[in-house]
Amino acid sequence: MPVKLSTYLKNTYGEKIYRLSLSSGCTCPNRDGTLGYRGCSFCSEGGSGEFAQGPDFIRDQDKGMTSEFFDVDAQIERAKALIRNKTGATRFIAYFQSYTNTYGDVGRLKELYKKAISREDIVGLSLGTRPDCLGPEVMDMLKELSAIKPVWIELGLQTIHEDTAKRVRRGYELSVFEDAYRSLKQAGITVIVHVIFGLPGESTEDMLDTIRFLSALDPALDGIKIQNLQILKGADMYKEYLDDVNSGTGDFHIMSMEEYTDVVARAIALLPKETVVHRMTGDGPRKLLVEPLWSLDKKRVLNMLTAKTKDLLT
Ligand code: SF4
Repeated sequence: MPVKLSTYLKNTYGEKIYRLSLSSGCTCPNRDGTLGYRGCSFCSEGGSGEFAQGPDFIRDQDKGMTSEFFDVDAQIERAKALIRNKTGATRFIAYFQSYTNTYGDVGRLKELYKKAISREDIVGLSLGTRPDCLGPEVMDMLKELSAIKPVWIELGLQTIHEDTAKRVRRGYELSVFEDAYRSLKQAGITVIVHVIFGLPGESTEDMLDTIRFLSALDPALDGIKIQNLQILKGADMYKEYLDDVNSGTGDFHIMSMEEYTDVVARAIALLPKETVVHRMTGDGPRKLLVEPLWSLDKKRVLNMLTAKTKDLLT
């Protein structure tokens, strides 16, 4: 039976561990012009990381210019202050979520991440990235970092279906993911895969085929994050969605909460016992979210998911 993240962390560290959302200052090949400028069509301008701490700024009075810099200690302290009163937490995972956190100057990134995981209050590092941004230099960095503290690599696969991947402009083929997965596992890195349910044109069976593929990976998948498609203002998919609604002929289907939670429960039932379930629903920025509006009532969604998966997860 797969395991909930909270159970896994409690078993591993003996206490509740919280993630601190931080920024590395990376961009994304799907946004800087290497693969494209507009990003995956579902991705918001914040690179799917609206809740992360931002950079610090320094002003050069002589030149009259302000430039940004990434002081990881300052970001960690700010992120801790946000949750300290609510949680009383003392140990954390440094989570670099937005954009592609292995895409940039490897020397700078290594220094930044080393600084984060050298702190006593940080138990591990989690980096959101793409499977086409894991070249040899990056792999060496990940091996070096993982000798200090556990490193989790989060890959935004979203779907195994090439038609959907092209349509949402993911920018790499499934074989790229498979190669990256193999290399990461050989290097002893924990891999967490992100999947989106409800992408346009996908049936329930298509979504479950993505889960079947992930469940058959060898070695077994370490972790999964499942979320519902969110139509966000500022993302290109919003326009596609509006065209679809206005023409009445498109193939967007915004799942109801009941439909979505049913598919998630079916997906969880397919996962191997080694897989840790990190997330079962999306957490979109309220001010940008267009659909599905039910996802704003996170408590209700989580209650329904808990009820439907109670015999499927430990
Ligand atoms: S790869 Fe990630 S950050 Fe880049 S455009 Fe796609 S979702 Fe956004």
